[in-house]
Formats: sequence, C-alpha cells, structure tokens
Amino acid sequence: MNETEMKDKQFVWHPFTQMKDWVSRPQMVISAAQGIKLIDTDGNEFYDGVSSLWVNIHGHRKAEIDQAIVEQLGKVAHTTMLGLANIPASQLAEQLVAVAPPGLTKVFYSDDGSTAVEVALKMAFQYWQHKGKTGKQKFIALEQAYHGDTVGTVSVGGIDLFHRVFKPLLFTPVHIPAPSCYHCRLSSDQAVCGMQCVTVLEQVLAEHHEEIAGMVIEPLVQAAAGMLMSPPGYLAKIRELTRKYDVLLIVDEVATGFGRTGKMFACEHEQVSPDMMTLSKGITGGYLPLAATLTTQAIYDAFLGDYADKKTFYHGHSYTGNPLACAAALANLKIFREERVIEGLAAKIAAAAAKLEQIGKLAHAGDVRQCGLIVGIELMQDKDRKAPYPWEQAVGARVCLQARKYGLIIRPIGDVVIFMPPLASTVKEIEEMLDIIHRSIQEVTERTFINSDS
Ligand code: PMP
Repeated sequence: MNETEMKDKQFVWHPFTQMKDWVSRPQMVISAAQGIKLIDTDGNEFYDGVSSLWVNIHGHRKAEIDQAIVEQLGKVAHTTMLGLANIPASQLAEQLVAVAPPGLTKVFYSDDGSTAVEVALKMAFQYWQHKGKTGKQKFIALEQAYHGDTVGTVSVGGIDLFHRVFKPLLFTPVHIPAPSCYHCRLSSDQAVCGMQCVTVLEQVLAEHHEEIAGMVIEPLVQAAAGMLMSPPGYLAKIRELTRKYDVLLIVDEVATGFGRTGKMFACEHEQVSPDMMTLSKGITGGYLPLAATLTTQAIYDAFLGDYADKKTFYHGHSYTGNPLACAAALANLKIFREERVIEGLAAKIAAAAAKLEQIGKLAHAGDVRQCGLIVGIELMQDKDRKAPYPWEQAVGARVCLQARKYGLIIRPIGDVVIFMPPLASTVKEIEEMLDIIHRSIQEVTERTFINSDS
C-alpha cells in the first residue's frame, strides 16, 4: 500500500461509499491524466470511461483550459459576487444565455449540481409568493429522480436507497411515475406506449395545479436512476402541460448538458424552453466546480422591488461565480465553437450504437440504453423474464472491476453498467472502450451464470 492509499484510508471519508468495504480492499490512486486517460501512481493508464463522474468533456489537461485558468490566476483567483461583479462571470453569463434555449436570459451562479437545483426550487417557490399565488408550494418530481444531495434536492429525489433514510427531514413532493419504457408498470403492452405516465401527470395537474409551484425533471435521461430514458415526445408533452396549468418547468441539465446527448442541451431534442434550467458538471469542461441556474426575464422581474418590498432572493455561496471556474467555462465554450464539438458527435454516437447492438445480444444484457454518449447497460440474470441478479452478487460492480484489468475505468449503478466517455474520445477509442465492456460483461456474467447454476 503506498503512502497516499494509507493516508486516504486513515483520514478520508469517500462519497457514496461503504467505507468498511473501501478500507478492506486495495484502492487505486490517480496521480496524473492526459487526454481521455487517467494515470495511477504505478504509471498504469486507464480510459476515463465515465468522464470523472460525467464532467469531463474535452479530455484532461486540455491546453486551452489549462491556459485560461493560469491566465486568470495572474489576475484574481476569487472575489465575492455579493456587492461586486467580475469579468469572467459576466462574460460567461452572456455566453450561456446565447447557447441556452430561447427565453432563458438570466444566470444565477452556484457551485455544483445540487446547489443549482436547490436554487431553482427556492426561486420557484419565492416567485409564486411574489405573484400572490401563495398556495403554490409543492413540487412535482419523477419517481427515481436524482437532483443532488442537499436537503431540498433530496426532497425531490426518488431513489429509495439514497433518500429513504432522510425522509423525516424532507418536504414531500408529488411523485409521478418515471417515463422509463423498460420498467414501465403502467402499460400492459410496451409496443404500444400510450404514455400513460403523461396521463398520470395531467390528472395530478388538473386536480392540484393551484398548489404546485413547479415540476423538476431530468430531461431525456434519468441519470443516477441508471440511465433510464424517456420515450420521444415525453419532454415536449411535459412542457405543454406545465404551461397549460401554470406550473414552472425546471429542467435539470446537470448531467445531460454540454453535448452529452448529441446536442448542446437535451431540451433541444424536443424544442423545449423551460422556465429554469440547471447546469453544472460539463460547464467547466470537467475542471472546476461551478453551476448555473438559468431563468426567464419574467421570473427575474418578479423579484424586483424596493428594499422594503423584501423581494430579494436571499441565496448565495462564498464561491459563487468564482473567476477561475468561469474562466475555465469560457474556455470550454470556446472549444465547443472552435472544434465544432457538437458537429463531430454524430459519428461517435453511431460508432457506439453499432458496438452496443452487439452487446445487446449478450445473454445477460437485459436492456441497452443509449442517448448520445450516455449509455446504460442493464444486466439481468434472466433476460426474458426481466429477473435481476441477487443484489449481493454485485454483478455490475464486478463487471466494472473486470474492465479495469483491461484498462478502462467505469462505475456501475446497481447492475447497470454506465458508459459516459469524454466527448473528445475518438471513434476508435469509443470502440475500444465498448469492446472492453463487451468482454467484461461476457466474462463476469458467464462466470456468474455457471456459479449460480452449480
Ligand atoms: N442533477 C443531476 C441530474 C445529476 O445527475 C446530479 C449529479 N449526478 C446532480 C443534479 C447533483 O450534482 P452534484 O453532484 O454536482 O451536486
């Protein structure tokens, strides 16, 4: 065990990690990175197959982003946005508005995905107070939603494993069924999806819209739920209904934003303009913590007033609008423009689809889901009966460990193998990574199959 691993095990408490398990196994220490590869302290190189938790876009040590941060360091690393403006934050706000769906004209900064959603929830709530519709206090969210780990975002979350323990601490949202076709429990015949999930929403809205401030949704892909994907047209329907019933639509693009789905934002696939959009993860190209909640002029205007009106939005963090992070984000957007990143994605997405078709034929690949360069491969013990593996077999985790032996770092969500490569990955690299995943699934599930039979 090297010194870092020893110190880590002695002093560090890792996120989303059972520490008893962590300290009992050898752990990898990453000391460097280059392009789409991470390098450990022994000098071994691994593909970063989940983009360092879905954040990395153009690869590691991208010269232009490195340079932008260094240049900003020569000016000022941090200053508060309470009572002061800074150059990168104002430039970035202008550029975010330019690339965002039409109608989103104001940018409120915070530090990570959770705070971006927390801001949206509080802003939506306060908005209705100002508009005199004080009964609008509740939020609609999807079952199995994940919007972050602060108390507000956990309240609208719907993942039992993560969220149940905190229930006594939370406010109660109105949960509606997740629009996941593979797991649909509303339609008896999946071939004829009547989008019953939308019907349920319409019933809720018709009955309760006077109590509902907003609906928060992960567009196209419910990421932390295991890359559950909604049917085409679902998001547009949600927009139509929330508008009809005067409920604010908060689209959480923390995971889907910045090219992940093949377009800059997932909303664009269905020409949706939400009332609020939350951004983080890819915003700095995966370099520094930064988040933004974008909103409309109408919502912004509802907060204007004299000091005595008490209409101010009293929310903000010490590092809000950090100049270094904003400089990285400006460099990120510049690379998108100059390297025509979005235009280059179609070939990569198609290459992934071709490999995934082969993976889908594996005996235990229950469902293979892809949206742009977001992939979830759900493993099943019995594919025909959709019977999952027993939890304790940790099949998803074992597949990911197997992939490490072949030079790929990926992380599962339960038995869903997640693949979310940096957008900068070449077609060849995407193919190589998916070949490793194919082989790893095959080796682990065949072994598990033999074990569970014998
Ligand atoms: N929203 C979505 C859709 C996410 O996927 C995540 C993180 N995975 C968050 C919010 C929370 O972001 P953070 O971890 O940066 O707080």
